[in-house]
Amino acid sequence: MGTPLESREAQAEEVVDRLEEAYPDSTISLRYSNRLELLIAVILSAQCTDERVNKETKHLFEKYDGAEDYADAPEDELAEDLNSITYYNSKAGYIKSSCRTILEEHDGKVPDTMDELTELSGVGRKTANVVLQHGHDVVEGIVVDTHVQRLSRRLGLTEEQRPEAIEQDLMGIVPEGYWQQFTHLCIDHGRATCTARNPDCSDCVLADICPSEKGDSEIDLASGEPW
Ligand code: SF4
Repeated sequence: MGTPLESREAQAEEVVDRLEEAYPDSTISLRYSNRLELLIAVILSAQCTDERVNKETKHLFEKYDGAEDYADAPEDELAEDLNSITYYNSKAGYIKSSCRTILEEHDGKVPDTMDELTELSGVGRKTANVVLQHGHDVVEGIVVDTHVQRLSRRLGLTEEQRPEAIEQDLMGIVPEGYWQQFTHLCIDHGRATCTARNPDCSDCVLADICPSEKGDSEIDLASGEPW
């Protein structure tokens, strides 16, 4: 890592301060009313927009009520009920298998530890972090999705590529009390301004502290690639 830790810490704090001011109501946008629904919504949200997931889960959560319903459902029927979601066949399999494990090994309850959650089918560290944070009020790490990944690199908070390595870097510099909120702030700013293809640097509250601020060169300094 080229930039000293202290300056990355100061950068992270400044980013959080400014984004909190810009997005005071930032929070998770998936809809759910219990831990199982949260787990299912997060599994479905991989490579898919929250908006699409919310549209699909509206009828899904009416039809299926609890882990038993998903575990007992014929897989092709469950897949058909998810057919507007990216990779719906695989995700139907993950949900069915996870619900079976929840019934057989966790007394029908969504587990509350990172190890147990990541043993469920289709659940990686990112999904587990979301479920822990929003389902159990346990903040063990930082959720690194595509927005967090992109913004952290552009803002000079990390030079890593892999989400797991980025998470480790961020956990070393983002104040622990903001680990959960940091993700939502990055998502809001990534959607509104610092988009993947066409970031609006001229209207960005972070422009004066961002090493990737788009000047004349139109080069993404954080990745070395053109925008
Ligand atoms: S200045 Fe540009 S690259 Fe930097 S955070 Fe803002 S929109 Fe993103």
